[in-house]
Amino acid sequence: MEEDSLNIGQFLERVDIVEVVSDYVKLKKSGKNFKALCPFHPEKTPSFFVNPEKQIFHCFGCGIGGNAIKFLMNIEKISFYEAVNIIAKKMGIEILKRTDIKENLERKKLLKINEYTANFYNRLLFSQYGKIALEYLYKRNLNDEYINKFMLGFAPKGNFLLNKIEEEKLNKDDFILAGLIDEDGEDVFKNRIILPIYNIKNEIIGFGARAIEEQILPKYLNIKENILFNKSASLYGINWAKEFIKSSGFAIFVEGYFDVLKMHINGICNSIAPMGTAITEMHLNILKKLTDKILLLFDGDDPGIRAGMRNLENILRKGFEIKICMLPAGFDPDKFIDEYGVKSLHNFIEHSYDFVDFAISVNSQIYDIKNPKEKSIVVKEIVKIISNIPDEIERYEFLKKLSEKMEVKLEILEDYLEKKINEGYKSNLNKIEPKNQIFSAEGLLIELLLNDKKYLEKIFEYRGQLTDRIEKIILICENLLKRGLEINPNFLITELDDEELINFISSVGMKDNNTFSENKKERIFNDCIKKLREKKLLVEIDNLKKRMNEKMVKGQNYNDELKEIQRLHTQLNQLKRRENGKEEKKF
Ligand SMILES: [Zn+2]
Repeated sequence: MEEDSLNIGQFLERVDIVEVVSDYVKLKKSGKNFKALCPFHPEKTPSFFVNPEKQIFHCFGCGIGGNAIKFLMNIEKISFYEAVNIIAKKMGIEILKRTDIKENLERKKLLKINEYTANFYNRLLFSQYGKIALEYLYKRNLNDEYINKFMLGFAPKGNFLLNKIEEEKLNKDDFILAGLIDEDGEDVFKNRIILPIYNIKNEIIGFGARAIEEQILPKYLNIKENILFNKSASLYGINWAKEFIKSSGFAIFVEGYFDVLKMHINGICNSIAPMGTAITEMHLNILKKLTDKILLLFDGDDPGIRAGMRNLENILRKGFEIKICMLPAGFDPDKFIDEYGVKSLHNFIEHSYDFVDFAISVNSQIYDIKNPKEKSIVVKEIVKIISNIPDEIERYEFLKKLSEKMEVKLEILEDYLEKKINEGYKSNLNKIEPKNQIFSAEGLLIELLLNDKKYLEKIFEYRGQLTDRIEKIILICENLLKRGLEINPNFLITELDDEELINFISSVGMKDNNTFSENKKERIFNDCIKKLREKKLLVEIDNLKKRMNEKMVKGQNYNDELKEIQRLHTQLNQLKRRENGKEEKKF
């Protein structure tokens, strides 16, 4: 972003967050701000605010915040550049040409490399080196036609790709960038069946690979993520399934690569798989354009069920209708078709559960529903899942069903649902891991900096002595100043990728500018700096202790670490001594 940063500044000055947000939610004027029902969490009274003066938004219900760019990134689940481009188009602003071209070139380069590599491994599969792999695939009922359709390949033992690159004098660095050669300059995939991963546009964006020998771990290996390949936005099989999803009216989620292949060669072509067990919001955004119905087909064993339950809420929240088809324990679609044939599978799919039946069935295996206490747990759990459905009428229908099945009065369930919807997200907020939480001295200091710029110069004196988060803020402020830009929440947010910090800054930004009295500022500043220096020293000492322990275990000399720890302790004590005599300030 470096060379184009100035453009971003000019760009932001011309963007109107109210216009951007209005495309998604109905804003109502409320004093200096606009308010609305939050599009990021279900609620009945508005806690989502947009401040046109500062060009930021913040939801006091779920805590999310940011500027126009972050809003679009979050709501559309897109990258920074995509968001900027959409806004630019909408506002008729021409910017970021250079970055655009640069990112496009990079993408094109990687696509070419992936195409090249897929072809190379495909040829190897049919060569003398690919015999075992080819046999394995034939055994799984994949014939040559299918193998070529799915572009399957084989990477034998050794550095076949590397040798090819050297032989053809290609740029090795490009292949490292594509994740196909590792940092030691070796082939990433060895002795593995190669499965190219396509996006919806039928471009190869990445690779997965299966070990050919059962004892080799991990059984499945993907390339590292890069600008093309983002696991949480990739769906295996989507390129082949796309048209079938549209025509059949629903998408089937299976668990693995070979499940997808098995389904497709058996004519169940609307099947796809996430990369891993989690179905993400980005996956659902891709699907939303094709269908609003999802069928989860999975192994009826414990991990399968757990993954299914985990994905439920996400899918419901996005407004999908969901059906669940649980295979007998120990069976994946691949094995099921082999033993019972594809007709039985169709039969199974036709008799799939809706999620209320599924949740009742799963929970009644864990809990004793005849016991009032346990029944209450189960019912509440299911109402919680129902609370994710955005549509009120649908919610009601499922509630009615639950009420009948579990023999609980509908009014009781309605009351509980109401409560869940109103408070649900707040409790989620408290679950954020403590290590991600903003240290209160960090928060106060940032608030002070945004209030009064004179403390910026003062803080520069303490560089290198403060916590990582604050050091990052200082660096960003310095960059903004260098480029002649103002230090304000909007610009700070643009430069940050730390979500906690973005949300925090937007919440501070919503306040009035003069929250601190003049004589209090100085004391707050000094107290915060002291706390942060202490915190930084403690973190360093902790890291050194860890390193020392590692060396101890390995029987290595750890004198340097020990000396450094002692030195830091002395510093820490000096800091604390200076604090003596003053009242202890708690943050
Ligand atoms: Zn919210």
